[in-house]
Amino acid sequence: MNSIDSLPPLRAVIAAHGLSARKALGQNFLLDLNLTAKIARQAGDLTGCDVLEVGPGPGGLTRGLLAEGARRVVAVEKDPRCLPALAEIAAAYPGRLEVLNADALALDWAAHLTPPIKVVANLPYNVGTELLVRWLTPPAWPPVWRSLTLMFQREVAERIVAQPGGKAYGRLALLAQWRCSARIVMSLPPEAFSPPPKVHSAVVHLEALPEPRFPADPKMLERVVATAFNQRRKMLRAALKGLSPEIEDHLRAAGLAPTERAEQVPLEGFCALARSLAG
Ligand code: SAM
Repeated sequence: MNSIDSLPPLRAVIAAHGLSARKALGQNFLLDLNLTAKIARQAGDLTGCDVLEVGPGPGGLTRGLLAEGARRVVAVEKDPRCLPALAEIAAAYPGRLEVLNADALALDWAAHLTPPIKVVANLPYNVGTELLVRWLTPPAWPPVWRSLTLMFQREVAERIVAQPGGKAYGRLALLAQWRCSARIVMSLPPEAFSPPPKVHSAVVHLEALPEPRFPADPKMLERVVATAFNQRRKMLRAALKGLSPEIEDHLRAAGLAPTERAEQVPLEGFCALARSLAG
């Protein structure tokens, strides 16, 4: 089952290089190469694209990305124990895999890639949300990347694609959906990983839109959304009163009832409120 290339099965790679999983690094490895190829395919056509992968570990998804035809893969891995296994993959795909032994949170990754760029990763759970927020808030839009295809805990994936009216709806949904299309494309049970995590996982595919769905200043929108959801059970006029002494007027100008709660407000309403406050 594990034959998308001429390299050894991942269990053998892990045993040969002593890659016992470390919890502190969020290490839950995917060992089925059919599954990693399927995840790679969720990113669409990779030929002609550079791919950024964060956390390749023993390289299951890396192999999927290369076998699916990525022009180049730049893989950023913090754990130096994984480097020999990744070097074997680099040798099997000459000139197509660059491995950077670095912390993805501290790296200027864009300097290593040439557009068009897609990001594909089975993210370490402890830094996944932080990385997503950074990718979604670049200094200018459209961003340097075209799409993000990312594995998260199912609960985080649901927060990214959430619609108004539920508990999952909040800052992450608004941030993601303002300038991207976002959908869950795969669900994985704990047993798909070694060792199995405690929770279910899901792959989210986000495509950058050429421009935001509704105009708004990114900093003001972020401030409004963060403030509104900080006290999500309160009515907007109370939750947002720190933003302006005339908050009720701004809410009405944005077409929102001051008695509404953040959970009920669609993206368009937050953008209108951000515009009114900025104006
Ligand atoms: N891609 C592999 C797979 O699917 O089997 C491994 C995924 S595992 C969930 C997360 C990987 O991210 C681990 O290899 C871990 O060492 C690495 N990692 C954790 N924190 C990191 C960071 N800050 N920067 C780069 N890699 C990191």
